[in-house]
Amino acid sequence: MIVMKFGGTSVESAAAIERVAGIVRARADRKPLVVVSAMGKTTNRLLAAADKAAAGNLEGALRDAEELRAFHQREAGAVCGPERMAVLEPALARHFGELEETLETVAKEGQVTPALWDETASYGERLSSLVVTSAFGALGLEAAHLDAREVLITDSRHTQALPLYSRTYARFQEKAAPLLERGVAVMGGFIGSTPQGVTTTLGRGGSDFSASIAGAGIGAEEIQIWTDVDGMLSCDPRVAEGGHLVKVISFAEAAELAYFGAKVLHPSTVLPAVEKNIPVRILNSRRPDVEGTRIVAEAVPSRINPVKSIACKRGITIVNIRSLRMLMAHGFLRRIFEVFDRYRTPVDMVSTSEVSVSLTVDRTDQMSEIEAELSRIAEVSVLRGQAIICLVGDAIRETPGVSARVFASLRDVNVRMISQGASLLNLSFVVDEDDLVRAVKSLHAEFFSQLDPEVFA
Ligand code: ASP
Ligand code: MG
Repeated sequence: MIVMKFGGTSVESAAAIERVAGIVRARADRKPLVVVSAMGKTTNRLLAAADKAAAGNLEGALRDAEELRAFHQREAGAVCGPERMAVLEPALARHFGELEETLETVAKEGQVTPALWDETASYGERLSSLVVTSAFGALGLEAAHLDAREVLITDSRHTQALPLYSRTYARFQEKAAPLLERGVAVMGGFIGSTPQGVTTTLGRGGSDFSASIAGAGIGAEEIQIWTDVDGMLSCDPRVAEGGHLVKVISFAEAAELAYFGAKVLHPSTVLPAVEKNIPVRILNSRRPDVEGTRIVAEAVPSRINPVKSIACKRGITIVNIRSLRMLMAHGFLRRIFEVFDRYRTPVDMVSTSEVSVSLTVDRTDQMSEIEAELSRIAEVSVLRGQAIICLVGDAIRETPGVSARVFASLRDVNVRMISQGASLLNLSFVVDEDDLVRAVKSLHAEFFSQLDPEVFA
C-alpha cells in the first residue's frame, strides 16, 4: 500500500484530474490511498465567503458559493460523463445546500468562529474527494470514497487540530485497509472530526499532514507527495538557476530546509511518517517519470557533497542588542526574548557575545514596539533588507574545511551574522539582500562542481 497526495493545483480542473488518474493508474498495483486537496483555490474562496457572511454580506457570500458550485459542476461534468454525473450531482447538491446553511449561520453569528471556519473550509476537500472518486470511475479506475472525517479523529482545537493517533490509526486499519485490499481509495486531506463527530481541520496546507497520518495509519510502504516541482534542489531556483535534484535527503535535513520555503513539507507534517520509518517522496505531477526526492530516516553520507542544499530567505531583519549590563549577568537574555514573545514575533537566528546579542526576525509588524521596549534595557539597532543563507548537510559537522570553503567563496561579500552548531547540520549566515544572488551562485559553484551520484540526479 502507498499513499499518493495531490495538492490543489493537481486537481484544479477536469484536465488536471485526468492527469492524476493516469498517474494513479500506473501505480494501481501498489494499492494507493489517494489524498486530495480542495480543487484549485477553493479553500481561499470558501473562507472569503465566510468573511463576507460575517461582515453582514450574506448575499455576496451566497453568490460566491454559487460560483463554486458552478465551477465544481463544470469540471466534474467534463470528466465524469453523464452516467457518473447522475450519481454525483445529488451529492454535490447536498453539500452546497449544507454550505449555504453554514454561511447563514456565520451571518447570524456575525463572526467566523473557529468551529465555523473549519466547517466552511471543509467543503473544499469533501467536494474534491467526491469529484475525484467519480472521475476515476469514469476513467476506468474504480475507486472507493473514504470520508476523512470517519478516520482522521482529532482533538477539538479548531483550525489547528491534532490527530488522536491511536484512535485514528485504529480507524484507518478498520476502514481504509479493507477498501485498499480491493483497489484504489480516495479521501480528502486537511479535514477530520472530533470523537463526537464535529468537523475539524489540521490548519492551512494540512493535506500533506493528512497524507503522512494516513500513511502511518495503513502502514504504507511509501508516502508520495505529488507537487509541481521535481523535488528538492541543491539551490533555490528563485535565486539561482542550475540547481541539481537531490534524490535523497534525511528527515532532519529536510526539516532544516523547510523554514526557507523550499518546496518541501513542513517538518511537523512528516512526523507520523518518521515515527513509523516510512519514506516520503516528493514527485512532480507534470513530469511523473522524474524520480523526485526521497526523504528518509537516516542521512545518506556523502564524501563528495557535505552540503546537500543551499537555502535562503529574503526580507530578513537583524536586531542588534548591546548592553554592558549583560556582562557576567544572568537573566538578560530572558528579558530580551520575553519582549519578542510578548509581541508574538518569532526569532530565527541568534548569536551572542559577552555584551551583545544579534538576532533575526522575518515578521516586523511589531518592530517599533519591540524596539521601544528593548531600548529601555539596552542599545538597539535594526538592520532591514537582509537575507539568510543556509547550507544544509548532515556531514557538515564532521567534514573539515567546510567553513574555509564557505568564507573563501564569500571573500568579497559582507557577512553580518554567522551561526553554526545549533542543529549540527546547518551553517547559516546573513548577508545584504543585494549580495544574495552573487553569494549563492558562488557557494553553489564551490560545493556542487562535483556530484555524488548516490545523492544527486
Ligand atoms: N485545502 C487546504 C488549504 O488550502 C489544505 C491543503 O491544500 O493542503 O490550506
Ligand atoms: Mg500544499
